[in-house]
Amino acid sequence: ESRRLLEKQEEIDSSAVAYPDDIPVAFKEAKGATLRDADGNTYIDMFAGIGVLNVGHSNPYVLEAVREQTEEIVHTIDFPTEARLDLIEKLDEIAPPGLRGENRVVFGGPTGSDAVEAAIKLAKYNTGGDGLIAFRGSYHGATSGAMALTSNKGFKDDYTPLLPEVVHAKYPSPFIDRAESGDAASVCPRPASECCGAPSCARALKEVREIIEDPYGGLANPAGIFVEPIQGESGVIVPPPGFLKGLRTIATENDIPLMFDEIQSGLGRSGQWWASEWEGVTPDIMTTAKALGGVGFPLSATIYHEDLDTWDAGGHAGTYRGHVVAMRAGTRAIEYIQDHDLLAHARDLGEYIRDRLRAAGEGTDRIGEVRGRGLFIGAAFVDEDGDPNGDVVDAIQQYCFEHGVLVWKAGRHGNVLRLLPPLVLTERQAEVATDIIADAIAATTE
Ligand code: PMP
Repeated sequence: ESRRLLEKQEEIDSSAVAYPDDIPVAFKEAKGATLRDADGNTYIDMFAGIGVLNVGHSNPYVLEAVREQTEEIVHTIDFPTEARLDLIEKLDEIAPPGLRGENRVVFGGPTGSDAVEAAIKLAKYNTGGDGLIAFRGSYHGATSGAMALTSNKGFKDDYTPLLPEVVHAKYPSPFIDRAESGDAASVCPRPASECCGAPSCARALKEVREIIEDPYGGLANPAGIFVEPIQGESGVIVPPPGFLKGLRTIATENDIPLMFDEIQSGLGRSGQWWASEWEGVTPDIMTTAKALGGVGFPLSATIYHEDLDTWDAGGHAGTYRGHVVAMRAGTRAIEYIQDHDLLAHARDLGEYIRDRLRAAGEGTDRIGEVRGRGLFIGAAFVDEDGDPNGDVVDAIQQYCFEHGVLVWKAGRHGNVLRLLPPLVLTERQAEVATDIIADAIAATTE
């Protein structure tokens, strides 16, 4: 049945639809952290639709509210509804401490890219600037502005010119620091106010300063800094401590907004509501989407400091700017995470999974690094020379699929095994999934 549906999709759907060739499956049902395919096989979902289903597939507590909401009202544009106001209040309750009680929310259309576009417009509108600093390895979306911020040329080369004034600085990585120094313990040798002293962090901050402040730098008229507090698509890269703080200092000194893209890292994924909280750094503007619509309803939002609330009515418009059902689902999902203490669960289970992956890597020199925070997890694979190895991750992905576990890939070389399971993943499911991933590693890396 899966094959029949796949063949039909190939025949009638866009050539742009994408799923790994090694995962020939059509899904029919999903509950919690499991999926069932069209032929009745069950899988543990360690991917959650790219980090969307934080409270699990078809979470009954959320669906109950969705059913009630669909019977009341589904669409109103910007007219007030209880659902809209409840979500704004809920987002304020969980906002990063520096924005709590002092923020505004503009809801976007269905995708994260919409929230990114709103953030770009808001930064430009408030500063009068036109240039943006983003980072290499970043992914921010598929619309024109978001593509311009995204560094991967593969996504955008056919569509240039995009926004002309985006300069990409190098994103720092503890892995680079270790590789360069050859010393596993040298990730962050000393604390400092702006940066932990990790060489890649110091270099990145110097580069950003030069782009903004050096008269011969890259931007004549900067409008802001746009950054993922943990990079997702480039392979779950957690920057060295101090990097975000350093960016905060630079943005404040230059009076430009610091913007965090929390579309993949936010809403509990990292074991905090927002990945920025791990570093205690407050952005001026942040984007969220993916898990915001509760159980996969499309919704995005740009949250910003109230000082930037300068748009006139209609200054940023959109028909689906806040879908009432998605908003109701979003509030319920946040409540569910609060009521079940899923942030602590994500932190504990994330540690467990990372430990198990490291243990699985002990028998082989093919795992370069296991990293992440909470249930935002990456394991980078290398070949015998220590170079990125995407083939082994393809093989692991296929092995896992054949044994009932769905895992995903990331990284510019496709060499990072990426796990973004629902936060409701149980300990037993985590154990079974990591057993199978460990078997896959053993079977593919001898
Ligand atoms: N920003 C980040 C960090 C993302 O991970 C993504 C999606 N992977 C986006 C933006 C774009 O979101 P969407 O695909 O919903 O437009």
